[in-house]
Amino acid sequence: MLKPFKLISVCNLEEAVSGAANGLKIFAGGTDILVMMHKGAEYSGLADISRIEELKQITFDEKDGLKIGACVTHSEIISNEFVQKYYPALVDGCSKIGSVQVRNKGTIGGNICNASPAADSAGPLLLYDATVEIIGKDGRREVPAEEFFTGVKRTVLKQDELVVCIKLPRITEREGSAYLKLMKRGAMEIGIMSSGIRVICDENGICRDARVTLSAVAVTPIRVRSAEEALKGGKITDESILQAAEFAYETAQPKTWRNSEEWSKDMVKTYIPRTVDLAVERMKREC
Ligand SMILES: Cc1cc2nc3c(=O)[nH]c(=O)nc-3n(C[C@H](O)[C@H](O)[C@H](O)COP(=O)(O)OP(=O)(O)OC[C@H]3O[C@@H](n4cnc5c(N)ncnc54)[C@H](O)[C@@H]3O)c2cc1C
Repeated sequence: MLKPFKLISVCNLEEAVSGAANGLKIFAGGTDILVMMHKGAEYSGLADISRIEELKQITFDEKDGLKIGACVTHSEIISNEFVQKYYPALVDGCSKIGSVQVRNKGTIGGNICNASPAADSAGPLLLYDATVEIIGKDGRREVPAEEFFTGVKRTVLKQDELVVCIKLPRITEREGSAYLKLMKRGAMEIGIMSSGIRVICDENGICRDARVTLSAVAVTPIRVRSAEEALKGGKITDESILQAAEFAYETAQPKTWRNSEEWSKDMVKTYIPRTVDLAVERMKREC
């Protein structure tokens, strides 16, 4: 049973910043906060930001790419035509979050600010070199998504700050991306591990750039640069994929009571090739 709590609906970003500076807890969809409150977390008050118009917009521009307001829900992301066309790994990630009800209420801002190492929108954001726009008493600043997470449930946000939006640059012509999540059962499950792949190739099929991400195997979602290097510079072959999988295996440091560390690491080695295959298949479909 929840204890009575104070919920203040804020109308604009100024009110939200001032509320946060004065100790109010930012409240978006509530799907994480209400669980924490059920477990005993107490706040002096909650600042509901879900009615602030700027935070609810999702826009696409041919030059600048995609801008997703912090309060855009996972369902809105999944059904957006530009996300579907250009950022399929984000659709993969958001569609794996909880249930329909959770995706209808839960927001992308809440997902990254909750900063679970298993957050399903985070890996895809790292794949697409996203930046996070933040507002606070001192104005606005931007942080690369990779630097936004500092530990389990920890981010670069100061007390008076909140996330305004997430920006994903325009993708290139010949590329493919995918995000796969391993769960013990089909729904409502935090991922055991997740892998993300993005490959960018030239007209001769040479991989010019790559991103490899892992979630739930470190204190934050991570990029595996050694695995990216293994994919880059030549055609994507069974050998380069296995090399990338080996580097990812070595990097993963899963710490969970739910599975043995070795089993989770083995799953990394199994999932990286599957994710590369899907990313390459998507790239071929688009070219
Ligand atoms: C049954 C269930 C299943 C779930 N399954 C998954 C899953 O499979 N994968 C997954 O990744 N997540 C899962 N979640 C977690 C959750 O749904 C997501 O993290 C969701 O995106 C959180 O968004 P929200 O808007 O509900 O956040 P809230 O609960 O409103 O907030 C979460 C945290 O972020 C802060 N916050 C929110 N918005 C901002 C902002 N703009 N600026 C600063 N701080 C902010 C809040 O203060 C709070 O600390 C699940 C949750 C439930 C209840």
